[in-house]
Amino acid sequence: MANGHPLTNVQQRDINAVLHPYTPLHKLAETGPLVMGHGKGVYLYDTQGKAYIEGMSGLWCAGLGFGDEEMIEAANEQMRTLPYYHLFGGKGMEPAIELAEKLKEIAPVPISKVFYTSSGSEANDTQVKLAWYYNNSLGRPEKKKIISRVKAYHGVTVMAASLTGLPGNHKGWDLPVDRVLHTDCPHHYRFSLEGESEAEFVARLAKSLKDMIEREGPETIAAFIAEPVMGAGGVIVPPSGYFAAIEPILREHDILIIADEVINGFGRTGNWWGSQSVGMTPTTISAAKQLTAAYAPLGAVLVPEDVYQAYVDHSAQLGSFGHGFTYGGHPVGCALGVKAIEIYQRRNIVEYVRGLTPTFEARLAKIKDHPLVGEVRSCGLVGAVEMVANKATKRSFDPAHGVGSNLAKFLEGHGAILRALGDTIAFCPPMIITEDELGELFNRFELALADTEAYVSKNGLR
Ligand code: PMP
Repeated sequence: MANGHPLTNVQQRDINAVLHPYTPLHKLAETGPLVMGHGKGVYLYDTQGKAYIEGMSGLWCAGLGFGDEEMIEAANEQMRTLPYYHLFGGKGMEPAIELAEKLKEIAPVPISKVFYTSSGSEANDTQVKLAWYYNNSLGRPEKKKIISRVKAYHGVTVMAASLTGLPGNHKGWDLPVDRVLHTDCPHHYRFSLEGESEAEFVARLAKSLKDMIEREGPETIAAFIAEPVMGAGGVIVPPSGYFAAIEPILREHDILIIADEVINGFGRTGNWWGSQSVGMTPTTISAAKQLTAAYAPLGAVLVPEDVYQAYVDHSAQLGSFGHGFTYGGHPVGCALGVKAIEIYQRRNIVEYVRGLTPTFEARLAKIKDHPLVGEVRSCGLVGAVEMVANKATKRSFDPAHGVGSNLAKFLEGHGAILRALGDTIAFCPPMIITEDELGELFNRFELALADTEAYVSKNGLR
């Protein structure tokens, strides 16, 4: 049985054979998997034919929605021409070259080279290895620690999960590994002191980072990694002046600044890059997700010329640059990356996102008055609603009550999909969503919020 209904055949087959990521495994048989059949535009249809507005672009990635004919054609064409090759040993292929050229053209800082991966986790793992390789090349073998942040999300490989600053990615997994430090999360609503202004909060966080660097010894710290707008940690938009306050401290100590643009990149925040929306000036960049609008897996690491030259020097010493993935730069992924960027440019996706942003903000602002809602926040077309047990004290619900995941379930009932990050509900609709579809997504969310209010009251969860 799933939620009182007998499991369908496809649900039963799923449960029998699939190990699901980020899923309460002990409850899956009871809740039942939601098995999707097909998608078109911003709509998904499950195997029973029920329609859902996809409010999360899948996992913050399907920025062009589903079934885009130009993307399908680009994949077909590349499949026919050259379905696979690689970049090892100095081999090359046109789509990998063209995409690297495009990325250099649109990058927010001067970029010299692009290294390809298959995912965001691999991109961030590669960032760490590259930071180590870089410092080994410069004769600084002790300069290896990486500073990340509480509530950061950088992926799930051993190193990327260590950089991630969420307890669920560490507890039970023997992580984080050594050489990883976590500094404060720039979320004013949650972490400011009584009466502390945003400016005071930023100054305190900058001081705390400075103290950490001095305590550890700047000669031991290789890099700082940050999502411009944090995603899976709860869509946290830093207060203005945050990056301007911390970057000089990092640069003073020759610490590389890595922007994890895996969610933020390609128009999501109302600029090509999240860095541009929050005033961040990175040394290197990780990209993935909307890079191909999720039509194929692909990640990339973008590096500037001086950093690249250090790799060249070290490779000369060691005989080769000993890093690379079988599918890094997969031609179908790269062809889709080229096509996605061409579509973003031709359809003026950045302008389009900016055009929708006032509606997105207005609908979030309306929700803010609801008794369950503590804070709403957004940047461009990514946002969140944080539910609390007590609006005045900001007290959270007991996580055991699963208020957020219940809301997500109610929402499925109303035909829409959003993601519960604890009791924070994330919004990241496909960037091609229309005003009407966006309005409908919020209408359905409001119904689910009312259901959640009834559920909380009925069960006395406050
Ligand atoms: N960085 C960020 C900011 C992410 O949001 C994610 C995935 N949600 C990753 C890295 C990891 O990407 P992947 O799941 O493709 O490995």
